Amino acid sequence: MIRTRFAPSPTGALHIGGLRTALFSYLFAKQNNGEFFLRIEDTDKARSKKEWETVIFENLKELSISWDNEAPRQSERGEIYKKYLLKMLEEGTAYYCFCTKEELDEERASLMKLEKAPIHQGKYRDFGLESALERIEKGEKPVIRFKCPKDQDVIFNDLIRGEIKINTSDIGDFIIAKDLDNPLYNITCAIDDAEMGITHVIRGEEHIPNTPKQILLEEALGFEKITFAHLSLILGKDKKKLSKREGSTAVSIYLEEGYLPEAIINFIAFLGWNPGTEKEIYSMEELIKDFSIKKISKSGAVFNIDKLDWINGIYIRNMDIDKLTLKCLPFLENKEGIDNKKIVLALKDRLKKISDIKELSLYLYEDEIKYDKELLFWKDMRNEEVKESLKKALNLIENIEEFNKENLQEKLTITAKESDSVGGFMWPLRVALSGQKASLGPAEIMEIIGKKESLKRIIQAINII
Ligand code: GLU
Repeated sequence: MIRTRFAPSPTGALHIGGLRTALFSYLFAKQNNGEFFLRIEDTDKARSKKEWETVIFENLKELSISWDNEAPRQSERGEIYKKYLLKMLEEGTAYYCFCTKEELDEERASLMKLEKAPIHQGKYRDFGLESALERIEKGEKPVIRFKCPKDQDVIFNDLIRGEIKINTSDIGDFIIAKDLDNPLYNITCAIDDAEMGITHVIRGEEHIPNTPKQILLEEALGFEKITFAHLSLILGKDKKKLSKREGSTAVSIYLEEGYLPEAIINFIAFLGWNPGTEKEIYSMEELIKDFSIKKISKSGAVFNIDKLDWINGIYIRNMDIDKLTLKCLPFLENKEGIDNKKIVLALKDRLKKISDIKELSLYLYEDEIKYDKELLFWKDMRNEEVKESLKKALNLIENIEEFNKENLQEKLTITAKESDSVGGFMWPLRVALSGQKASLGPAEIMEIIGKKESLKRIIQAINII
């Protein structure tokens, strides 16, 4: 059984990079009929917050990434880590280290002077557990270090990057716990992955330096081997690591702005992966079927917001109109006599994201629209001409009973064609109805705002002229 996990630290919002890790881990598990687990890595007590944990849960749920367990919190698993730490101390694969900060600084400085890597030499490596316990008894507070095997190659086959090799002399005796009750990331991660039966760890490349350490811990504790895959960075358009410069990196912002969950997932899937075909629109089911770790790129993936807009536009246009209207409601006004579904229908092709509908629809609700008189003029039309054109429209529209856009459009087109210029008839009318440089067409606007409001707006324009 293949088991993957997403192990966020709840120290901030769920970011684009985290979401990609979660998605790829989820897809890989599901396409192998395996399980996908969530785990909350909150050993950093000062920075971990319950609110962030809630945000992570909610974002993942909204994006249809579901997990097959109850998402344990590391902060509640202290006894388990303690048990393993004691075992390692007893077996001699870990030891208490009494080095003071000054000693470590000095060691570091002298190694640097000799142009050697500042790797701790393990002063207390062979001190013995009993002697250590005596010192603890007297009140000393040592940290716990891993007794790293000497001069041994740690080799693993990264599913994306191929073989990665590092010698233990470049790792040294790293600290695994501040004390028995305060284990650090590498040991908690190794223990949890083993206890959860994780077979594949997919995560960001910033964790590559941790992987050999976790493999060594895995070996020391006699755990099953895990396969690793490290995803390359997500880059901004400037090819530097994605940051706030490019807009937000927090997933919740995209959801709030009205990027559809399906579109976000589709977009994120293509950050570093592609099927090698022309196909760009993928549902979650299709992703589960076609996603392939082997096809993930080793180089950085560029986050391109224009592509997200494009994908989102496609999902918006394909969405059931009632569902779409429901999604749009938080961004729409409420006015008696105005059918919001009609507005959504008329504007949906112009939306990149749902929130765009707010700006695009405001003039439809207004009781009194405001605009510059000059906007009413088509090309070099004179005052009188604009006025005449609007009066012609007013007469025509007053007599139209069937007030739907098809009928309105038909009547307007006939009159426009009979006029000196189509633009000269349509432009002042459209501006009179919208007050905007760009807007829906006059027939669409009139159907939405109704006859009374339409006539009122045309009269207002005539009066302005
Ligand atoms: N808690 C770690 C992080 O958020 C996860 C590391 C891992 O996936 O092993 O970066």
